[in-house]
Amino acid sequence: MPDIHLPEVELNIHTPKNTAEATIVENYVCTAENSPNIIRHITFDISGTALEGKFRTGQSIGVLPPGENEKGRPHKIRLYSVSSPTKGEKGKKHLVSTTVKRANEEVDGTFYLGVCSNYICNLKVGDKVKVTGPSGKRYLLPTNFQDFNYVFFATGTGIAPFRGMIMELFEQGFKGEAALVFGCPYRTDVIYPKYFSEMEEKHENFHYIKMISREDRRPDGSKYYVQTAIDDRSETLTPILEKENTLIYLCGMKGMETGIYWNLAQKGFLDYLDLRGDLASKSPLEWSWDEAKKLIKPSARTFEEVY
Ligand SMILES: Cc1cc2nc3c(=O)[nH]c(=O)nc-3n(C[C@H](O)[C@H](O)[C@H](O)COP(=O)(O)OP(=O)(O)OC[C@H]3O[C@@H](n4cnc5c(N)ncnc54)[C@H](O)[C@@H]3O)c2cc1C
Repeated sequence: MPDIHLPEVELNIHTPKNTAEATIVENYVCTAENSPNIIRHITFDISGTALEGKFRTGQSIGVLPPGENEKGRPHKIRLYSVSSPTKGEKGKKHLVSTTVKRANEEVDGTFYLGVCSNYICNLKVGDKVKVTGPSGKRYLLPTNFQDFNYVFFATGTGIAPFRGMIMELFEQGFKGEAALVFGCPYRTDVIYPKYFSEMEEKHENFHYIKMISREDRRPDGSKYYVQTAIDDRSETLTPILEKENTLIYLCGMKGMETGIYWNLAQKGFLDYLDLRGDLASKSPLEWSWDEAKKLIKPSARTFEEVY
């Protein structure tokens, strides 16, 4: 396994106390228009700020929503993964993009609107927004990216960093194997479907796997999730996972990591994992869910960002 060289990054050039002003230049739906889980692609123009050219794909940008919370205190920053490549959206270093889901929830009959995600999704082209960053120093592609193969697992807006990373890899003539496993409830919720399908058509070494949990059923009647792809699409994934120079990146809903790690363990891909406690002395089939959740950690070959 070659050494993994991560780039040096600048962090927190702008902070919540010292925000930069960005201008919205794009805000469009990047799922199907009739998706119940509508997601928007948002591009910020950071021209003239100290942030220009500073965001690397994999890092996050902070957004400070205006107004106050119910206690009368100013709202806090929320982080959003950068979905543009390091050289910037459309190759322009003053443009940085993200991928936002409106976070709304109904609890006991009361409907709660997520403060920041709805604020961002409602912004119009030309609107100004307070931003911070960059944030994140490990969730990055290696500078020696050609030395590796990649398996990316995303649920929902977890796709954001992989749009940037996959653009970046292939624009630089990536020669290894890369697979993207994307999970969502319905076909209408697939994010950036056109971009990734076209990438798969163009590049023999890019594999695009969609796992649709609420529409399709596996032969045994169970649901397709990102972690079941390790079995369901093993003809594509096993040869990549078996290579000694493959890295795994996963991003999305908190909790997704346990299923992926457990399935990797069951298939014998232990090198991607750091097993704590007495897990290593037992068969993965004997582990309980709680043990797996608590005691399986990512190894140096695995990069995790869940929220
Ligand atoms: C590193 C990182 C990267 C991220 N990347 C992305 C990304 O790329 N895209 C993305 O969309 N998100 C991303 N997130 C999540 C994002 O930061 C926000 O957490 C998310 O948008 C919700 O923020 P909000 O202000 O809209 O919701 P909040 O106002 O913070 O509310 C959170 C949730 O709680 C519910 N809620 C509010 N009040 C109550 C209440 N009283 N009782 C019960 N429920 C309530 C809301 O409906 C909402 O679902 C990322 C997070 C991290 C940490």
